[in-house]
Amino acid sequence: MLETSVVDLIQNQINAEMYSAYLYLDFAGYYADKGLDGFASWYNVQAKEEMEHAEKFIAYLQDNGVRPVYDVIDKPAEEIKDTKDPLVLADAHEKHVTALINSIMDEAVKMHDYRTQSFLKWFIDEQAEEEKNSAEMIQKYDNFAKDGKGLFALNESLKNRK
Ligand code: MG
Repeated sequence: MLETSVVDLIQNQINAEMYSAYLYLDFAGYYADKGLDGFASWYNVQAKEEMEHAEKFIAYLQDNGVRPVYDVIDKPAEEIKDTKDPLVLADAHEKHVTALINSIMDEAVKMHDYRTQSFLKWFIDEQAEEEKNSAEMIQKYDNFAKDGKGLFALNESLKNRK
């Protein structure tokens, strides 16, 4: 049996992962609109990954006899000002998600819930990867997208993500 406090945080996390998917779909839509199909493709792949994260939490609740509750998903609130903006917003968002995952871990530790601690390990590692990727995107943009040619080349390279 999972503790109610842990279940509540996981329910909230399902919503947060789906919101992440929403946010990245919005970024993909912005880039598609600007003709930057490589950036759009990158964030479409990212959105799919976020839905997979939500599915992992859903399956975890179900495996433990808890029916997931689906709350309202906020609309992507961030105003996108320029082509670098989503990269910066994504980096900040992933740091926020890391904090959310950590807070679930804190609760699982507090409740001596070893099962959830073990389950969360994948997400702890995944967030390290997400933060690395989002920081690298900013770095690449700053290094290479100084002019149209650089932006074009970076856009092309981002098409490789499957
Ligand atoms: Mg995620």
